[in-house]
Amino acid sequence: MECLNLIDGAMRSPGRGAWLEVQEPATGGVIGRCAASDEIDVDRAVDAARRAFPEWSAASAADRADRLDRLAAIIERDAEAFALAESTDTGKPLSIARSVDVPRGVANLRFFADLVRGWSEPPFELTIASGGPARQPAAAGSHSRPQETGLLHPRPFASMHSVVQRPASGVAACISPWNLPIYLLTWKIAPALAAGCTVVAKPSEVTPMSATMLAERAIEAGFPAGVLNVVHGRGSDAGAALVAHEGVTAITFTGGTATGAAIARVAAPRFKRLSLELGGKNAAIVCADADLDVALPGVLRSAFLNQGQICLCGSRILIERGIYERFRDALLERVRALRVGDPLDSETEQGAVTSREHLLKIERAVAQAVELGGRVLCGGARVERASLPARCADGCFWSPTLLEGLSPSCATNQEEIFGPVATLIPFEGDSEAVEIANGVRYGLAASVWSGNSARAEELASHLHAGTVWINCWLVRDLRVPFGGWKESGVGREGGFDALRFFTESRTVVQTR
Ligand code: NAD
Repeated sequence: MECLNLIDGAMRSPGRGAWLEVQEPATGGVIGRCAASDEIDVDRAVDAARRAFPEWSAASAADRADRLDRLAAIIERDAEAFALAESTDTGKPLSIARSVDVPRGVANLRFFADLVRGWSEPPFELTIASGGPARQPAAAGSHSRPQETGLLHPRPFASMHSVVQRPASGVAACISPWNLPIYLLTWKIAPALAAGCTVVAKPSEVTPMSATMLAERAIEAGFPAGVLNVVHGRGSDAGAALVAHEGVTAITFTGGTATGAAIARVAAPRFKRLSLELGGKNAAIVCADADLDVALPGVLRSAFLNQGQICLCGSRILIERGIYERFRDALLERVRALRVGDPLDSETEQGAVTSREHLLKIERAVAQAVELGGRVLCGGARVERASLPARCADGCFWSPTLLEGLSPSCATNQEEIFGPVATLIPFEGDSEAVEIANGVRYGLAASVWSGNSARAEELASHLHAGTVWINCWLVRDLRVPFGGWKESGVGREGGFDALRFFTESRTVVQTR
């Protein structure tokens, strides 16, 4: 596959003719090439987006929503091709791409189409009681000497009517990572386009295929030229040029915390609107009163879905001491039973990790854990070639790994590994669970597993995390705010928070 850029309504080769290889992580083979764009392509894309902005932002919300719905219908029509591309490009099981990634991409587009159709900020009415209470900011307007006007005695009024308008902010840069390519790309472009921004998207260079397919479908869906642009390339080239571009007014970024910090350093002095969704080191807290029929599969899924490459994965499993051994042994049995193999095989539960480079990073992290005194309960190594189908012998497969015996403060329990690796940590009492859960620089998500809902809610109320799940994981109502505390990010996505992010507010005030 050739991953071209979408710029000004057409699929185009990179200006300097440079390309990157696209590899299939499950086989190690090259499956295509992707535009290695730089500032030339970014300039062209931002220029096209600027030219398209006046008309797109002036279109009715219903018109913009209709276009998003049309794109959603086309992706749904081609869902199988999207799922296959996503699985091949990322290494995730095809069954997951079919059941999670592609349906969620479609849902994101439809959700923001529906949301923007009914969106307006309610007006603020303030009636001034005669001689009005001093607390009302407009009390000066009901001053008892109405005949006097001027600097000291403004003209009196009986009511104030304020309307908050939400014009689109301009050209939005949408930068997304490799772990959930179409899921996170649509999560960003849908609210931006719905709100009236024009977009330059920069998908991950590691997984460019589904974004290219979406770009081609956007042309078919009839988006006017320049409304949606997709520029591929390395973060250090295309990404950095996009962030610094003076024509970009808003940046929404999902990726690593270090990259987020680098982007913030460039964006802040230029006063761009900035939303950062960054890394996590999330705790799954298993209480002694948990229903193990719920907690065991839930914790297993939260640690290993998508080979543990979801920012929300519970990679630190905190287990109340009274059930530590019992829970550990039962979980261990389930982790050992996970079927690792060819992502295209419908029985596969764990596919490949997303790249050779990432495999090496996981390998280094596990070696460090062992040096720090961690005991490998299962996994701890690459999957042996002999146990993989011939097609996958050179693929990037890591055995699902459980570690124990590590201090909560050691590097393994502090730094994101972002792979199929989880640690087990015993705790005694809820305050210790909270202390360990909160004792990291991240604050993205957590889960609590308990049969006592009052206890679970009390625990949740002390956790420093943007999302806390009780006896569930990864279920989301798309209307609620999503984002991280501390070094997991700045700003909130989801629902009206997302629409507000891509708009400016203009408050229009009238008095009567
Ligand atoms: P990354 O930070 O390396 O890259 C993310 C994107 O940023 C890519 O498109 C990349 O090309 C681009 N980029 C890199 N350097 C850039 C720069 N200087 N300027 C502009 N763009 C640049 O992240 P990754 O390795 O692709 O993804 C894994 C990370 O993403 C993990 O840390 C994970 O926790 C995080 N993540 C967070 C969330 C969330 O919602 N909080 C969701 C998914 C992934």
